[in-house]
Amino acid sequence: MPVSDTFAARLNPLLGDLVATYGTPFHIYDAAGIVDTYRAMTDAFAGEPYRQYFAVKALPNPHVLALLLAEGSGLDCASPVELGLAGSLGAGPGDTVFTSNNTARHEFELAHKTGSLVTFDDLTALDRCDPLPDTVAFRVSPHGLSAGSRLMGDAQATKFGVPVGQLADAYREAKARGARRFGIHGMTCANELDVDRAARAATDVVELGARVAEDVGIQLDYVNVGGGLGIPYRPEDRPFDFRRYAEAILAARRAAFPRSAPRVLMECGRYVTGPHGVLVTTVINRCGKGREVVGVDASMSALMRPGFYGAYHHVTLPFAQGRAEAPYDVVGSLCENMDKFAIDRPLPDPREGDVLLVHDTGAHGHAMGFTYNGRLRPAELLLTGDGDIVEIRRAETYDDYVSTVPGTPASVLPATPHARQERPACTPDR
Ligand SMILES: *Cc1c(COP(=O)(O)O)cnc(C)c1O
Repeated sequence: MPVSDTFAARLNPLLGDLVATYGTPFHIYDAAGIVDTYRAMTDAFAGEPYRQYFAVKALPNPHVLALLLAEGSGLDCASPVELGLAGSLGAGPGDTVFTSNNTARHEFELAHKTGSLVTFDDLTALDRCDPLPDTVAFRVSPHGLSAGSRLMGDAQATKFGVPVGQLADAYREAKARGARRFGIHGMTCANELDVDRAARAATDVVELGARVAEDVGIQLDYVNVGGGLGIPYRPEDRPFDFRRYAEAILAARRAAFPRSAPRVLMECGRYVTGPHGVLVTTVINRCGKGREVVGVDASMSALMRPGFYGAYHHVTLPFAQGRAEAPYDVVGSLCENMDKFAIDRPLPDPREGDVLLVHDTGAHGHAMGFTYNGRLRPAELLLTGDGDIVEIRRAETYDDYVSTVPGTPASVLPATPHARQERPACTPDR
């Protein structure tokens, strides 16, 4: 689906001037849309113990994270740098969850120090977390309905979580080591648009939590159903019905926990910001080589999903209305054939100089960017609630690209005098 109608209505009148004065490429995000989506989620759980922790990895721009924190959102972090970002924005104890995997000892120490709710991906991780936090949650492996997505793997192939059969023992061990409060975590889906499927997968985690708690003799403080809710990337996709999802989870919780009401936590990233961003580019090249090729001034390094996963992102040319449509490949400049934003996409006769929008880049867009081929990451702009457009991250420059390279290499391990004599000096080939 194209970006939300409200974003389009706010952005389109400004787009011509913006491109003329600022240039392209850049990602631009819609603050009002992000906040509205967050509020609608909170409304769906009104009166119930609930908190949404925004998955920082989806859009790790401090200005966007600050918007969400100000609304009462928590932050879901998976690395020390993400914890650092959260801390720098004033996130306090309880404002972050730390849901990582393959986690080093010092990362747990940091998570513990910052007062994160820590999700353990494996029983052995307890050994690397000393002291153990008061509250321990385990992530359950994809199972039942939540298994089988390409992003998470199935129960056999996944690297995530504790297998269902080992879960009770994991809680027993945590209890024996002094944990006093408990949660359960299940990442139940990935970019899921089918609300019934998502709700049943979340219900699985709620019910599993109740069974394990009963079995082990513990109370659950919270059930974290993770993120993974989908957004309508394609024009024919219907938006995810969040209200129905919330109602199903609450019903499942009431049924599974008749005497207590564990908090419902979520770690949505894509659902919150995905539709509220767009990558603005300019067509710089049109050619035919068996296929009709439209080259733009951004590459896969600014938005990896289409090339990497074959993910669909809608493409439009806002100033090319009325031209006849034909199929085109929209490509970037990387020396990689997968560097394509769209393949065989019907578009209105793109011409050099046209503005071309790649939609739904508000999550896992700039964040997954890289600098291969020296095609550096573009700027991020924000359309504020007041209607201003502000730069919240400038484009990278050559100086950024070389900023980690010292002029003179610093000695790391000097050669011993003996080794220096043994080895002939390096001389270029004749
Ligand atoms: C990636 C991830 C999320 C967020 O996923 P979205 O698809 O952006 O909602 C949340 N929790 C965990 C553990 C993740 O790995």
